[in-house]
Amino acid sequence: MTKIEKDVVATVHYTGTLPESGEVFDSSEGRDPLRFLVGHKQMIPGFEEELLGAVKGERRTFTLEPERAYGAVIEEAVQQIPAEMFGEITPEPGMTLMSDVGPFRVVSVEEATVTVDFNHQLAGKTLEFSVEVVDVTVATEEELAHGHAHGPGGVEH
Ligand code: ZN
Repeated sequence: MTKIEKDVVATVHYTGTLPESGEVFDSSEGRDPLRFLVGHKQMIPGFEEELLGAVKGERRTFTLEPERAYGAVIEEAVQQIPAEMFGEITPEPGMTLMSDVGPFRVVSVEEATVTVDFNHQLAGKTLEFSVEVVDVTVATEEELAHGHAHGPGGVEH
């Protein structure tokens, strides 16, 4: 049986919870399972590490400290930017918007400036995952060359 290791394609169902509040922040329940090429930085590091050696049908539950999940909160990632840079958009606290350097959240809106946070929403958080391994398959040459898993139907790009 193929085990989860570098260069295989893992297909998993997962539920991620915040252990402090019990809140589910992400889950594949009710959706297609997640497919990813192991060892190509498609996933947060701890998620793959904890699944190494697992085989089809196996279930694993593990807790990841921020270092092995989305990293620590970086204070410099909280920035004030001129309100006029939002153009047509009226920024409101809690909004998530996209920029050239990635997504960010609006923290607060001042008169001429807007305080935004580029930290990942899960930065600084300990995460708990419950994972069921649905399948483990050998990656195709194409998937290895691309550095990511393709859908069950093959290349779509
Ligand atoms: Zn590809």
